[in-house]
Amino acid sequence: MPASPAAGTFGGVSDCLFCRILEGDVPSEEVLATEGVYAFRDINPQAPTHVLVIPREHIESADTVEAHHGDVLAEMVLAAQRVARADGIVDGGYRLVWNVGDDAGNTVPHLHLHVLGGRRMAWPPG
Ligand code: AMP
Ligand code: ZN
Repeated sequence: MPASPAAGTFGGVSDCLFCRILEGDVPSEEVLATEGVYAFRDINPQAPTHVLVIPREHIESADTVEAHHGDVLAEMVLAAQRVARADGIVDGGYRLVWNVGDDAGNTVPHLHLHVLGGRRMAWPPG
């Protein structure tokens, strides 16, 4: 399988924005692509580095992750490490975020790991 967004999804959902990005129907700024995941720049960045890492398989959220997703979750975190190294934010530190549900501000129902860095961040989050 080619390592590009056009490689598509495993069981993609046609009205899902991030499945459509994976299919190449919606443009995105690629950061990296592997067999199982795709990383692209957030359209509304909240930090100098704001990248989303998504599985090619349509998984709705961290709340619907199952044990058999273990390999793709590991691939997502390894991709986040590579993004952080490529953007030079490892020494300064970075934040990985999985929003789940309304109270967390989750807006796209396709699992995505936010990689944020390049500025000092507050805790607790807003
Ligand atoms: P969340 O609020 O955790 O569901 O995150 C969804 C993220 O997707 C937000 O940070 C949005 O800015 C981002 N987003 C929405 N549409 C696009 C798009 N077409 N390309 C890139 N990022 C997007
Ligand atoms: Zn999807």
